[in-house]
Amino acid sequence: MTYPSLNVEFHSMMMMRPITLQNVAVIGAGAAGLVAARELQREGHKVVVFEREDRIGGTWVYNSTTESDPIGIDPFRTVIQSSLYASLRTNLSRDCMGFRDYPFVASKEANRDPRRFPGHREVLEYLNDFASEFGLSELVRFGTEVRNVCLEGGKWKVRSRKGGDQLDEIYDAVVVCNGHFTEPRIAEIPGIETWPGRQIHSHNYRDPEPFQGQVVILIGSAASAVDISRDIAGVAKQVHIASRSVTDGTIGKLPGYNNMWLHSMIESVDRNGTVVFQDRSAVRADVILHCTGYMYHFPFLDTNGIVTVDDNSVRPLYKHIFPPPLAPQLSFVGLPWKSKWIAGVLSGRIALPSSGEMMADVEAFYRTLDVSGIPKRYTHNLAASQFEYYDWLAAECGYPAAEKWRNQMYSAATKNRMARPETYRDEWDDQHLVSQANEDFIKYSSSNTVQKEMDSSSLNNQSSSSTPTTQEL
Ligand SMILES: Cc1cc2nc3c(=O)[nH]c(=O)nc-3n(C[C@H](O)[C@H](O)[C@H](O)COP(=O)(O)OP(=O)(O)OC[C@H]3O[C@@H](n4cnc5c(N)ncnc54)[C@H](O)[C@@H]3O)c2cc1C
Repeated sequence: MTYPSLNVEFHSMMMMRPITLQNVAVIGAGAAGLVAARELQREGHKVVVFEREDRIGGTWVYNSTTESDPIGIDPFRTVIQSSLYASLRTNLSRDCMGFRDYPFVASKEANRDPRRFPGHREVLEYLNDFASEFGLSELVRFGTEVRNVCLEGGKWKVRSRKGGDQLDEIYDAVVVCNGHFTEPRIAEIPGIETWPGRQIHSHNYRDPEPFQGQVVILIGSAASAVDISRDIAGVAKQVHIASRSVTDGTIGKLPGYNNMWLHSMIESVDRNGTVVFQDRSAVRADVILHCTGYMYHFPFLDTNGIVTVDDNSVRPLYKHIFPPPLAPQLSFVGLPWKSKWIAGVLSGRIALPSSGEMMADVEAFYRTLDVSGIPKRYTHNLAASQFEYYDWLAAECGYPAAEKWRNQMYSAATKNRMARPETYRDEWDDQHLVSQANEDFIKYSSSNTVQKEMDSSSLNNQSSSSTPTTQEL
């Protein structure tokens, strides 16, 4: 895909700066690693992607097996990468989720899921399509786990293991894409050591069956908590949701359910099985289910203490990507634009500020967080500023800002999810934005297949009402 109006500018940028092609190791072949591999490859770098599983897709490869430690604190447990539950449908619409120049359009192929908020298998199919379109699987060493990454003579020594074989290799640069939804974060609960019930983290939740007839306390209020509480309410005796963000007015029985209640956070638990909430209500429960998120975890990375993770803040990172003292030879990826920027910076086509300037920028950013009273653990939570951040990255790469519908669609979806937690995936009011997205997708589509799918998708949309249902799509 090309942006014709920018090619001249790009070409002159490339003529002005000498290009250096590098040997780059990418760790992980999930969505982030695949995008990184594609961008690095198209910049001309030599890329090896290390993937410990035997297929691409990372978290989107559903695994019915769960970890031996249901709350994931045993460091010696066998790690399962995916946190998906069987019923999971995306919480972002496919139009918003897709990569900008490889839209996630509905496919007419058999066994595909054309819904706007599809089930998890459809996301994996999309990533498979993306990988085959750009020949990315050939870059991946499957079944190969990175065990250690450390500096040696100004380069990176990457130690990997495949089966019983260990290999040490030297790379110019390392891009870390190992995912950040695998290492559970657990709520601290006074008295939990002697509480007799069962605990589990949502990372190890797959289906509601084990909660049949149980009294379940579910901690959290983000997307997984909303889904899983509804999943479980169908079979459990009672579901009590403990939420940090609850307001007094919303505490109590949840409308539409005869067995689900909303509470403030847990204050303590007792050896007799009782769970006491801060609102002074108390329940005798069988299970505590932590839907409390994840921690950044880079067990293989040795940077001599330069990069640290403190209260889930990875520091210091310039623009959430490069640690200044190690830039650009070490980077962390989670978003497409990051990869394009990294690829251009590594080749020398795009310049970074000096290490000192980057450090000053990072420190100023951390001061802003402190002054605003934002805890460290929200350092990488871009929330409202995420589109501004994407536009900044795009501009650095010489590309235009994102289309307006993306931001508007994201806001509309967020509001819709709050207003209709049960039905937001099948009822919406922003069909006009879907039409705008489809017009843009046609511009980005390079293959006839995608073009054809776009045509039929927009025909379907034209015939649907302003609040289409899944069936209509
Ligand atoms: C329950 C849930 C629901 C979600 N829903 C949505 C949604 O609706 N929309 C959305 O946009 N996003 C959603 N997300 C976010 C999702 O995680 C991202 O969309 C994206 O898939 C993350 O990709 P990643 O490549 O960063 O990580 P992952 O997909 O986790 O991939 C990391 C890869 O690195 C490999 N790896 C790790 N360590 C090593 C090592 N040492 N050596 C070799 N390989 C290694 C892993 O095997 C894995 O393949 C959801 C996440 C979760 C957990």
